[in-house]
Amino acid sequence: MTIFNSNTLIEITQQFGTPAWIYDAATIRQQIKQLRNFDVIRFAQKACSNTHILRLMREEGVMVDAVSAGEIERSLAAGYSNSDNPESIVFTADVIDRETLALVIQHDIPVNIGSMDMLHRIAESSPRHPIWIRVNPGFGHGHSEKTNTGGPNSKHGISLEDLPQAISLVNQYGLDLIGIHMHIGSGSDLEHLSQACQAMIDTVKFANVDIRAISTGGGLPTPYSKNDSELDTKAFFGLWDEARKEIENHLGHDIKLEVEPGRFLVASAGVLVAEIHCLKSTAQHHFVLVDAGFNDLLRPSMYGSYHEIEVLHQSEFTDQIDTSSSAVEYAVAGPLCESGDVFTQDASGVICHQALDKPRVGDLLVFNDVGAYGASMSSNYNSRPLAPEILVDKGLNRLVRKRQNIRNLLALEDV
Ligand SMILES: *Cc1c(COP(=O)(O)O)cnc(C)c1O
Repeated sequence: MTIFNSNTLIEITQQFGTPAWIYDAATIRQQIKQLRNFDVIRFAQKACSNTHILRLMREEGVMVDAVSAGEIERSLAAGYSNSDNPESIVFTADVIDRETLALVIQHDIPVNIGSMDMLHRIAESSPRHPIWIRVNPGFGHGHSEKTNTGGPNSKHGISLEDLPQAISLVNQYGLDLIGIHMHIGSGSDLEHLSQACQAMIDTVKFANVDIRAISTGGGLPTPYSKNDSELDTKAFFGLWDEARKEIENHLGHDIKLEVEPGRFLVASAGVLVAEIHCLKSTAQHHFVLVDAGFNDLLRPSMYGSYHEIEVLHQSEFTDQIDTSSSAVEYAVAGPLCESGDVFTQDASGVICHQALDKPRVGDLLVFNDVGAYGASMSSNYNSRPLAPEILVDKGLNRLVRKRQNIRNLLALEDV
């Protein structure tokens, strides 16, 4: 069930049209609250980088991670400033281009370094720069089923083999090492998580260098279907807190514990609302076609992700009610000239179905839990303009991004 009441959604789409992204500020604040035990909550903004969402985060005391020059500019536009608080913005990457290098130096932005080449570049351009080292713990060591996930083969992070060399560079240049960072993919499975915590402890001891903080990275899960369970945030914090304490004992002083969620803070806070324009049946499927495509919501086409879909009845075209069919299971698809433009598919691209309650042309479809990696992954494929974003906060429906129009796109080609 959607987090919004139907009237709110109908009202918003009457004002701003479809498709539209709609976010609920209260849900974001609730998610933040669940992680307050951590010393620093750092929002991985690539999940949802609208500056108004970033402003909300900042007002809640949440720090921000940026993975591009554009995301640094967004953080600054939202009022984050490392001269006010040196922890505000961190830049995480495996590479750093010249433009981004100039930006992090200009704004004193700590850099979370994911490769030796990047470490050399930072050291040479800004020898005293504040940094984090993103370590790839080479997960899979000891897991026969994951033989290919060892450090040297992974794109992200500095491998354990390279870590001693990285630390000696840090010492040689006098770089300001804040802490060790690991981005762990799975937080729901607490057994997997304790392995991650142990890897952090082992890594810090192995690095044999003083630090002020550790970061758990992101990857905190959020339920998408009724079968998914909620993250036990108390247990999640508890395991990391134990690891932190063991590291504090080892170092002989307190350190800060950071968590870096993207999805967890925003996924459940957003919906995409589209209008139904066509119902058609083939020998295999009853299709519902809407005015949003994978140019808007990419996750189902890219990963086979499941999003619960529901109907909001508002159709005036009652003569188009499909009385001939008794189907309740539908495949939902978009308007793109591309057969993969289907919202109900599995990871191998096989079309699936969802039960929908009497969808009619002119009704609305709501895609739930799309606040993370929804709008931020949209594109202009098929020359379709980006959909607007609306933030619902304290009873107000605020347009926080206008609908793009085709003139915006053509203007770039006016050369
Ligand atoms: C993407 C990313 C995150 C957030 O991942 P989620 O699964 O959305 O929590 C955190 N840290 C880094 C470095 C990332 O690249």
